[in-house]
Amino acid sequence: MRILVIGGGAREHAICRSLSLDPEVDAVHCAPGNAGIGEVATQHAVDVLDGEAVAALAASEQVAADLVVVGPEAPLVAGVADAVRAHGIPVFGPSAQAAVLEGSKAFAKEVMAHAGVPTARSYVCTTPEEADSALAAFGPPYVVKDDGLAAGKGVVVTEDLAQARAHARACGGAVVIEEFLDGPEVSLFAVTDGQTVVPLQPAQDFKRALDADEGPNTGGMGAYSPLPWADPKLVDEITTSVLEPTVRELHRRGTPFSGLLYAGLALTSRGLRVIEFNARFGDPETQAVLARLRTPLGGLLYAAATGTLADFPALRWSDGAAVTVVVAAQGYPAAPRKGDVIEGLAEVAREDGPEAYVLHAGTQADAEGTVRSAGGRVLSVTATGADLSEARARAYTAVGRVRLEGSHHRSDIAERAAERAAAGD
Ligand code: AMP
Repeated sequence: MRILVIGGGAREHAICRSLSLDPEVDAVHCAPGNAGIGEVATQHAVDVLDGEAVAALAASEQVAADLVVVGPEAPLVAGVADAVRAHGIPVFGPSAQAAVLEGSKAFAKEVMAHAGVPTARSYVCTTPEEADSALAAFGPPYVVKDDGLAAGKGVVVTEDLAQARAHARACGGAVVIEEFLDGPEVSLFAVTDGQTVVPLQPAQDFKRALDADEGPNTGGMGAYSPLPWADPKLVDEITTSVLEPTVRELHRRGTPFSGLLYAGLALTSRGLRVIEFNARFGDPETQAVLARLRTPLGGLLYAAATGTLADFPALRWSDGAAVTVVVAAQGYPAAPRKGDVIEGLAEVAREDGPEAYVLHAGTQADAEGTVRSAGGRVLSVTATGADLSEARARAYTAVGRVRLEGSHHRSDIAERAAERAAAGD
């Protein structure tokens, strides 16, 4: 099998890495890729928002893709999966119509209401006056969400009414204002072909920039999987109460969702509630989840793309744990600094592999092979171990070898979960 992956973040690096380890996969191509993906895939420059250009690349003699895997949300919402499918090439990723589940929070709320999926009570507001009365109705803490795509940065959760009102106004278009959900958050990915739902293992990510969940929301600063503290029945419960009803509802509407359905959930004292859906693998949870998947990834994604998941064998997982720590550029998320030299990558490969490895995100290599920062989240270090404590220790040892001026990372990824697991809690 020959596979073309679209995207250029650490998520795509993790996907390309897993595909390159799949014995059924003969060739991995990636567009646009980054300085690390080039080690496991052949890279191509293409406008990833241009469906026809992506389809032409997939069909080209050099790539001759049997499967295209779309990583980020923007190409999905732009209809890249539709364009490739129209050329007869199987695609892992939903149509533009189904991807609206991520592209519009108001649409996702409406689908959940029809499907009977538990979520926060909410109002969709289109004027400042509506926003003000919704904020007054719910009271603090206030939750204000930009309706459209905002790369994980459109949500403000605050005790400060003035800040909540300011965000609602700054969003411009529709905003979703909803009740505050307490309790731990869980991310669960499922692979689906539009009918059959195959859940992966749950993960937890860390959205805030600083330790102890302080600082602004980011695209994600780290993740771990599995969740030793969670009820073993949690995945089944999410599958039957959230994932399957949502997939059935979109099928019923004539816009079946095939690809990766990502449910972000809060486990509240009143039961689980969906915080959001995404239409693609989450970053950084993918790095931790795929590190533990033993089933070859290529065949699984191909089965989803070709509507044959019902016959796919049960997934196999490692018994251990995986931890991912994101290294971000100085100034991230507000104003990340770019162009700084990154050192220590070869040391990680030499000293810490294969249990710990670097997945590149915002990186670029120049003609001499010097790797420089080129984005906010520069790279993520992923490590595996017998348990979370071991995986954490390995991840942070490797992070300590990476040198990037001004960079920052959280030092508490999976800390509490590892302590609880060690205490037998
Ligand atoms: P989202 O982009 O919808 O995942 O939101 C980003 C983050 O904001 C989530 O991971 C939560 O930490 C937080 N958040 C979103 N909605 C709520 C809510 N209703 N109650 C509490 N926190 C929320």
